[in-house]
Amino acid sequence: MHSPSLRVVSPASIFNLFCLPAMDADLDLLRQYNQSLPRYTSYPTAPHFTQDVGQEAFRQMVQHSNVVSPEDPLSLYLHLPFCRQLCYYCGCHMKVTHDPARIEKYLRYLKREIDLLAPRLSSRRPVTQIHWGGGTPTLLTPAQIRDLGAHLREQFRIASDAEISIEADPRGLTEEHIAAARSVGFTRLSLGVQTFDAQVQEAINRVQPKRLTRTAVRWARAHDFDSINIDLVYGLPRQTPDTFADTLAGVLNLAPDRIALYSYAHVPSVLEHQRLIPEEALPEPTERLRLFGQALETLTGPGGYRFIGMDHFAKSDDELAVAQRKGTLRRNFQGYSTRAGADVYAFGLSGIHQLSDLYAQNAKALRAYYDAIDRSELTVYRGYRPTQEDRLRRHVIMELMCNMELSKAAVEARFGIDFDRHFEGALGRLRPLSADGLVSLDQDTITVRPSGRLLVRNIASAFDAYLHNDPTDEQPTYSESV
Ligand code: SF4
Repeated sequence: MHSPSLRVVSPASIFNLFCLPAMDADLDLLRQYNQSLPRYTSYPTAPHFTQDVGQEAFRQMVQHSNVVSPEDPLSLYLHLPFCRQLCYYCGCHMKVTHDPARIEKYLRYLKREIDLLAPRLSSRRPVTQIHWGGGTPTLLTPAQIRDLGAHLREQFRIASDAEISIEADPRGLTEEHIAAARSVGFTRLSLGVQTFDAQVQEAINRVQPKRLTRTAVRWARAHDFDSINIDLVYGLPRQTPDTFADTLAGVLNLAPDRIALYSYAHVPSVLEHQRLIPEEALPEPTERLRLFGQALETLTGPGGYRFIGMDHFAKSDDELAVAQRKGTLRRNFQGYSTRAGADVYAFGLSGIHQLSDLYAQNAKALRAYYDAIDRSELTVYRGYRPTQEDRLRRHVIMELMCNMELSKAAVEARFGIDFDRHFEGALGRLRPLSADGLVSLDQDTITVRPSGRLLVRNIASAFDAYLHNDPTDEQPTYSESV
């Protein structure tokens, strides 16, 4: 039984909710804009990184940043890639293991990597954000969580109000994990749920009874975590509006502070294991839109969440919602963030360092990662040095993606350009979206309209020079906008 406040909605009501007239033609419109586009956690995006930027460029940039910004805040990302079992929809950089020695070895190297990089960063730089992602960080034992957390604290000066978050899988989680995470400073917990429906769980090879999630939330609250996020996915095999309504009701009952609702990207040509998902069990495109509309209506209506944009919802007093109202929200490789102005340093396999003038990615293969550290080297193997034009476009894209509004005068003052002349092509690409009511193109500002939040990637992508100027016309595979 669903909660009476939840109901299955027609695709047309998506448009009612976002101030568009409810007509079949509007569904066609949404279909037309449903393209494969970057998520803009960086600009340019990771597929444009090259091996022209490696160890040396990264080392120099770290040195340079110590000179020009010796007191600027830092954000640290730790990648813990191991999982007990493969979820068939997974798009993360992960490795299945049942061997505790393998995890122990990785942690030894991860600590050595921290020891190699930390002394190169100015000790005056406070750490204002830490995130452990994966894989499954809570596959570590409570003792390993304490040990790694303590190691970070020995090497860095962590601000007392730092935002410290960890991703957790309710399967295999114990109260000792939660207590260990809290004891080393974690205040935010992100729980992977995806769906509460047993049939869908079976189809994605992730059987996770609801009581496990409920218990994890109870433990987090008992141990004074400030914020709980729940990850959901729509567009999964065997997912229907009825079962999705049950999942949404179950999540609302848990009242998390944030909800991330991701669209399942089925790309078996890139991720071979996704072939294990029977294509005939995937919802049709119209059905996917219905699921998304259903989530929008449920979460922003009875749920009382604010739609931050793209795939994030937050309670209206949550930091994300507050930052968006103030125009200070940013994006980095972890998604939307209130502290993303800080340089991000990444530790572990495939982690991406995100400095204002350089992107640099760590080795993706364990062998290469271990070999580099054995040579007392950092593990960066590719990256990208943004040009001034990239920085300008990144600023415009991030303003639109995060704050939904852009002041042309502010961009002109910051980058010394004539906005309308410089972005003549982009403005031309936005005109049809403006005619369709997704964005307002005024003399001084560009504003994403409520209906445009659904398709903010389409709006931002008008400014992506790599999408529109690629002479080879060979684009990387991105997920679809809805
Ligand atoms: S737990 Fe997360 S990272 Fe691990 S296989 Fe499942 S989706 Fe992928």
